[in-house]
Amino acid sequence: MNLDNLIKFSKQISGSIEFEKNLKSTNWFNIGGKSKIFFKPNSLIELKNFLKLYNNSGKIFIIGAGSNVLFSDKYYDGVVIKLGKMFSNLSLLDENTIVAGSSSTDKKLSEFAKISGISGFEFLSCIPGSVGGGIKMNAGCFKNEFKDILVSVQAIDISGNIKTITANKINFEYRKSNFPNDLIFLSGTFRGKKEDPKIIEKQMNEMKNKKNLAQPSKIKTSGSTFKNPIGHTKKKVWELIKDSVPLDTKFGGASISKKHCNFFVNENNANFEDMNNLINFVKDEVKKKTGIDLELEIILVK
Ligand SMILES: Cc1cc2nc3c(=O)[nH]c(=O)nc-3n(C[C@H](O)[C@H](O)[C@H](O)COP(=O)(O)OP(=O)(O)OC[C@H]3O[C@@H](n4cnc5c(N)ncnc54)[C@H](O)[C@@H]3O)c2cc1C
Repeated sequence: MNLDNLIKFSKQISGSIEFEKNLKSTNWFNIGGKSKIFFKPNSLIELKNFLKLYNNSGKIFIIGAGSNVLFSDKYYDGVVIKLGKMFSNLSLLDENTIVAGSSSTDKKLSEFAKISGISGFEFLSCIPGSVGGGIKMNAGCFKNEFKDILVSVQAIDISGNIKTITANKINFEYRKSNFPNDLIFLSGTFRGKKEDPKIIEKQMNEMKNKKNLAQPSKIKTSGSTFKNPIGHTKKKVWELIKDSVPLDTKFGGASISKKHCNFFVNENNANFEDMNNLINFVKDEVKKKTGIDLELEIILVK
């Protein structure tokens, strides 16, 4: 990649390119080092042209709302791409089908579904991520997951080819999908069922109340640190942690949430090492006490 060409390109676009960008401000943990390039395209053509210039010359990471990632403090020698506002459009394809831009928040999508009288999207009101991140993670709660409403994904690969992938071609598991890591989702097509918006609203409020009671808010966290170990025990991961680890354990500024012990918190200027030490400590203690190997839900980016 030619840096001069990239600087020239950055002056011609309505999106933005930042060099040596501090990644802390891009994620909920508020942790991370610098990224060589941080690119925020504001149109598909800008994204295509960037990929052409970049020419697969280094690492690429796509970030959504940053609510499920933990960046290392080390230099990210590559590009972090975050789709801009122009990728957040929401529109009706027919009476129960919605096309949602990847950078729309899950909350906005659930509101749009509600006012359009389409049910099945209520759970999205409880997830603080973007549509792109939700598709990748197969995010979910209250027994609903992205895969239940997803029809297809529109995406661009690193060579600039646009693709439509139908959901039945993807292997979705609990908080996991098998999309290639360098595939950039542009939008998703989702289908629900016609329903009275008042009933949808009631359902959404019930879910939000339940979530608020069980989980902390307004803290620097990435939500559930580990996945529930389905198939190994009937216990939820928070119960395993509670049984195995003193809940006042801290590493530097990283601590365990008092409201939900699977939520780890950047309480006081934690860095990656603090958070990673806490993660490894909890994983080791749970293994020692229960024999269960916990799997990370959050994505580590090094
Ligand atoms: C307070 C709190 C509560 C939470 N509650 C829940 C919950 O109830 N259920 C749940 O499942 N999760 C929950 N989470 C975790 C998180 O919100 C979800 O995993 C969410 O779907 C992540 O979306 P994001 O946009 O923040 O993705 P990011 O964290 O930015 O990225 C996550 C993954 O998605 C990929 N990605 C993001 N955008 C794109 C794109 N456009 N194209 C390709 N790949 C992309 C990234 O590369 C990365 O691999 C919670 C998090 C917090 C902080």
